[in-house]
Amino acid sequence: TVGMVALDAQSRMTVGTSTSGLFMKRTGRVGDSPLPGAGYYVDSTIGGAAATGMGEDLMKASLSYETVRLMGTGLSASEALRQAVYPFIDRLTKIGQHPREFSYVALRQDGDWGIATNVEFTFAVAQDDGATQIYIAQPNGDQPDI
Ligand code: ASP
Repeated sequence: TVGMVALDAQSRMTVGTSTSGLFMKRTGRVGDSPLPGAGYYVDSTIGGAAATGMGEDLMKASLSYETVRLMGTGLSASEALRQAVYPFIDRLTKIGQHPREFSYVALRQDGDWGIATNVEFTFAVAQDDGATQIYIAQPNGDQPDI
């Protein structure tokens, strides 16, 4: 999945996801990517979030929505993701559901951004001057530049 959250110079926001779904998926399978709340969510007055990973796991909660809701309480993008995503992964683990890939990007309306992931995850941050930075995030929270 390519998930993108965008903010324009007038503070308008949008979010989008594009995916091939799951390799060798069954006909008719619907993953998380087209589902508002799970695969993506945006509220232009707050921010947006988008997911990539194993849809069968990502669809068990509406973590994109929850991340935006938490950003609306004043949390940074990183903190909102931290509070939305990792407890849910822990919960799945505790009930024996063996969570697979979970990766989220989030952007607030003030430009603050963050990610949460439980795998190595490559993402890009593009600025309005055209500068684009590519990062590889580790599940432990490190985000070294490449
Ligand atoms: N989330 C997508 C799906 O399960 C797959 C992906 O992110 O690569 O359909």
